[in-house]
Amino acid sequence: PLVLGIETSCDETGVALVRGDTLLFDAVASSMDEHARYGGIIPEVASRAHLEAMVPTIRRALGEADVDLSEVDAVAVTAGPGLVGPLTIGASAAKALSIGLGKPLYGVNHVIGHAAVNQLVDGPFPGRSMALVVSGGHSTLMLVEDVATKVTELGSTLDDAAGEAFDKVGRLLGLPYPGGPHIDRLAREGDPEAIRFPRGLTARKDQERHAYDFSFSGLKTAVARWVEARQDAGQEIPLHDVAASFAAAVADVLTAKTIAACQAHDVDTLVIGGGFSANSQLRDMAAERCAAADIDLRIPPLRYCTDNGAMIAALGSAVVRAGVAPSDLDIPVDSSMPMAIVTV
Ligand code: ATP
Ligand code: MG
Ligand code: FE
Repeated sequence: PLVLGIETSCDETGVALVRGDTLLFDAVASSMDEHARYGGIIPEVASRAHLEAMVPTIRRALGEADVDLSEVDAVAVTAGPGLVGPLTIGASAAKALSIGLGKPLYGVNHVIGHAAVNQLVDGPFPGRSMALVVSGGHSTLMLVEDVATKVTELGSTLDDAAGEAFDKVGRLLGLPYPGGPHIDRLAREGDPEAIRFPRGLTARKDQERHAYDFSFSGLKTAVARWVEARQDAGQEIPLHDVAASFAAAVADVLTAKTIAACQAHDVDTLVIGGGFSANSQLRDMAAERCAAADIDLRIPPLRYCTDNGAMIAALGSAVVRAGVAPSDLDIPVDSSMPMAIVTV
């Protein structure tokens, strides 16, 4: 089936066409430039940008894929989690298309989409796999038994997401927003062992309740205290070493817990997705530790990791093929949609 996917959970307006596991075209418009000067996403600004970008982005995807709207077999749209205003714009567009075309509508989970997009690159998932989705808003570890019907959340962040922690540390180091990529770049020239920052939720007392949960806010505070103490002493801040030591702490916790989960659940395929999977320190450490643990690591190219329509079309396509019932046309959007729900 030919599935048109629409993504509007945050600041990207994404529209893509997927047939089976083949991506025909992925069109993305972003309002990030408008948010950069505020140092964070402004939901009202993002909503208006989605409204303006929606029809041109749909037209562009159809044009580049050389597909006529009448050929579309199903429409998939992000139903959550995400910002309610932006989600509503995407859902409204998807409902209109579904009604106009007389084709089924599937409201799908954005975070699971970040994992599903991998199928466009590395092919179908094996029977069971582990997925780690890391971005500006999420750090979620999931056991994927069937990406269309059976996903179990094993853990997630109790406070800041990995990308969010990078952005906050970026701000305190005086780097432009979003700070994540800047810290990555600095860290590549620093010593990751220069400063021993805390590894949140890895102590023995946390093992039972929070074996697969993450917490990065204590780490962020530790970095702030370390930097302040240096500044108070009138010393220069070794930016490269701070960045490298901080990035190493994040990558260490993410990979250690994820690999432990793979071993505990006897899974030998790990999919990493979400915008933070661009992070070099995470990529390097995951590659090294997965090789040592004999785990097949799948991280798609960067353009599939950030928010886009391809991930929603890919999940929609998997859901259609699994024979899941379409959503009601009055699908609600859910800002905190649970991982147990793949389709609404
Ligand atoms: P969502 O959370 O809804 O999936 P988002 O827009 O917050 O969406 P993405 O666009 O997927 O997230 O990812 C952006 C986040 O990833 C930002 O926090 C950014 O700083 C971070 N990031 C991007 N590249 C890197 C990098 N190379 N190193 C560290 N962090 C990075
Ligand atoms: Mg984004
Ligand atoms: Fe996302």
